[in-house]
Amino acid sequence: MQTGRLSVHTENILPIIKKWLYSEKEIFLRELVSNAFDAISKLKKVRLQEDIRDAEDEAYAVDIRIDREKNVLTIEDNGVGMDADEIQRYITQIAFSGAEDFARRYEESKDKSKAGIIGNFGLGFYSSFMVADRVEIDSLSWNPSATAAFWSSDGGEEYQIGEGTRTKRGTTIRLFMEEGSRDLLDLAEISRLLRRYCDFLPVPIKVDGAQVNREHALWTKQPSQVKPEEYTDLYKHLYPYQGDPLFYVHLNVDYPFQLQGILFFPRLAHEMDLNRSDVKIFCKQVFVTDEAQELIPRFLTVLQGVIDLPDLPLNVSRSYLQNEPQVRKIAQHIIKKVADRLNEEFRNNRDHFEEIWPEISPFVKYAMMNDERFYEQARESLVFELTKAPAEGSRFTTIEDYQARNKDRTDKRIYYVSDNRSQAGPLKLLESQGIEVLRMGHLIDSHFMQFLESKAGGEFHFARVDAEISEHVLDKSADAKLVDSEGKDLSDQVTELFKSTLNDDQITLRVEALKDESIPAMVLLPEQMRRFSEMSAMLQQGSGLQFPKQHTLILNSRNEIIKGLAKPAIITGETGPGKRELIAREVYLLARFAVGGVGPDEFEDFLKNSYQVLERAL
Ligand code: ADP
Ligand code: MG
Repeated sequence: MQTGRLSVHTENILPIIKKWLYSEKEIFLRELVSNAFDAISKLKKVRLQEDIRDAEDEAYAVDIRIDREKNVLTIEDNGVGMDADEIQRYITQIAFSGAEDFARRYEESKDKSKAGIIGNFGLGFYSSFMVADRVEIDSLSWNPSATAAFWSSDGGEEYQIGEGTRTKRGTTIRLFMEEGSRDLLDLAEISRLLRRYCDFLPVPIKVDGAQVNREHALWTKQPSQVKPEEYTDLYKHLYPYQGDPLFYVHLNVDYPFQLQGILFFPRLAHEMDLNRSDVKIFCKQVFVTDEAQELIPRFLTVLQGVIDLPDLPLNVSRSYLQNEPQVRKIAQHIIKKVADRLNEEFRNNRDHFEEIWPEISPFVKYAMMNDERFYEQARESLVFELTKAPAEGSRFTTIEDYQARNKDRTDKRIYYVSDNRSQAGPLKLLESQGIEVLRMGHLIDSHFMQFLESKAGGEFHFARVDAEISEHVLDKSADAKLVDSEGKDLSDQVTELFKSTLNDDQITLRVEALKDESIPAMVLLPEQMRRFSEMSAMLQQGSGLQFPKQHTLILNSRNEIIKGLAKPAIITGETGPGKRELIAREVYLLARFAVGGVGPDEFEDFLKNSYQVLERAL
């Protein structure tokens, strides 16, 4: 047995590393198992050309054993193995040069953040000293002429190297667990860590004889070779108890960077949390992190799934991702792929697209507002739900199709409803004239409409059903006018009555002849004015949405009540508040009702007024 000396210049780096990395000490297992896997992959390559030891031994596996009595964790593989010379070269020189590197950087950047240092430091094999106070390697190389080698170190400057005991090709790493890390010597805990980090490594990984990993990484297959149910299956494996995904995107890129992955649009039962990413980042099938906000654009963080970046260092850090120019390109690529997939589904699988659209559309809209390029790339698949399907065609329409069908009646206006119930009156009026109306009830829609208008260059604008009356609901014939027996116009009289009754100069009054004579009056909320008051309500949080003070009251000259009010002779004068005033107020309050514009204050007024009207009616 010989004694060698590590060429580490700064003494006692280990305690420093341990301190820095304490919170992530579990990654030692990932490092050692991926080394074991690498060794097996190398062997597969070597055996294509060379004569190897134990050539018939084809059951590749990584075997992990827990010995709680001796406090030893063993990681064994049947890969290439190493002879003494290789251990010297690869472990003591190369691995420890990482430690040297760490020491230098630590000196250089004492006050920099922890993440900044760890991110640039290749841990690899050396990370085993975060949990063990002694590490042994026993290895037998694939090369039939080599002899078994043994190496032992307590992580200090000295190590022992000598003859090993292995008789079969491969490597055994023995970790003598330090006191503070012995809780890891637990079947459930080790299995959990392996499933977290090594679940998809394509080799069986066994703990005390039983395989724990899934082994197959679906994303490494060609998309054309994967069946839809396999995607669902993977999703359920990664995210149990979340139901089936709505939609998946299989990524497979070779140039200008390598990237493979599968992203899912989940069914959203939970609140959307835009600061969290549910995407798992892998490096050659080894799990790296699920904190990759930098890779997944913030507005797509609703996505779940896997991204595998073979060129990513295993010990990737936030600061690495933030500073890596490649990362921006990757994010751009992901955006493009998601858009392409949406378009493809829209074009080739329209039924399914429409089925999932109500659930995915808030995110698509959010993404569009956040990224111009995504908007440009996915806009062809942007559809809106109609309150009623047109005679032929789907319940979902693009803006272009809406305009093509409605433009002769709506001009540049696109009608929408944000709440069917409170806007039922004006909605019915439009529908009765065959004018189509979009449903825009989601929180995001008011912003999104604003966004689309800014892109439309005046080609269209949105108007809520109660914002303005369409020319098409008006009766233009001469006898629709409000006139007395001598043909004198009575519009002014009725307007005057409402004006003095309501006594509110924020209310604009207009007399119009509606085709539907059953409606006495309608409240209109001019689009821009209403949006403005919605906006200010949003800014003054908690104050709730106030009914806009400025609004228009349309009086229907074809309605019998309005006609009656215009002709005072019909109604006999009385003491107290006049009957005409009572009815006028009732008509106004009912119109407010029809647009959901009656709050607690008006409600009391409404009841009182209604009782009085009924009393007079007796
Ligand atoms: P990296 O894996 O990034 O090269 P590591 O510190 O993890 O760095 O490992 C250093 C080197 O030690 C490896 O490149 C490999 O040559 C050798 N090595 C480590 N573990 C094994 C093993 N189980 N079998 C064979 N070689 C190994
Ligand atoms: Mg390694």
